[in-house]
Amino acid sequence: MIMKTIGILGGMSAASTQIYYRELCNMTRSRLGGLHSPELLIRSLDFAKIEALQMKGDWNAAGAVLNDEAKALERGGAQVIVLATNTMHKLVDQMMAGVKIPFIHIADATAQAIRAQGLKSPGLMATAFTMEQSFYTERLMAAGLNPVLPNETDRAETHRIIYEELCKDVTTDQSTAAYVAIAKRLAESGADCLILGCTEVGMLLNQRNVPVPVFDTTLIHCAAALDYALG
Ligand code: GLU
Repeated sequence: MIMKTIGILGGMSAASTQIYYRELCNMTRSRLGGLHSPELLIRSLDFAKIEALQMKGDWNAAGAVLNDEAKALERGGAQVIVLATNTMHKLVDQMMAGVKIPFIHIADATAQAIRAQGLKSPGLMATAFTMEQSFYTERLMAAGLNPVLPNETDRAETHRIIYEELCKDVTTDQSTAAYVAIAKRLAESGADCLILGCTEVGMLLNQRNVPVPVFDTTLIHCAAALDYALG
């Protein structure tokens, strides 16, 4: 069996990159058994630097960082790249410029999983960038889906909890309750499923506390990367 090396561009945040590592290990063990574990190259960036560029709106500088790191993963022997954050998929074109190895897009993998279940109108809980700019929702729409966004207050609260807590590996009952309530309101306003559209949201939400089918982008992305790596 030949297993390709997956390059993970992560650290955005480090809390979710740990989930990628753990889940890729779990999935590999359950698919291959024995002592198998995935062939990985993990590049974990200092999220404070990236977040400062996001806040300044200096996406071009952030894209240049990602491009350098994608090239380094390729040089290091990665055979496929995953970018372990939904938000930074805004910069995929710049990031992959001059990189020849394939890239697995988190929104495409998620859209495919949703369509395979015959669902159409996913609620989207993510950073404000992912919910409010067009790069992500348009990608979902191009895949035939009709995303449903939280109202303005719920979007702000979803975003706040990601940056102030989840990215620092902090989970609280209060924020879990807030997320559960937002998910419920999305279902009530017509969402037939829910995208956990930020790689940390699965720290608070899952199929046990959400009333509609849950699509956790982190888990879907790991499974798609492993499908590719195992051919
Ligand atoms: N991990 C997050 C995401 O999936 C947010 C952190 C970031 O801005 O990269 O969007």
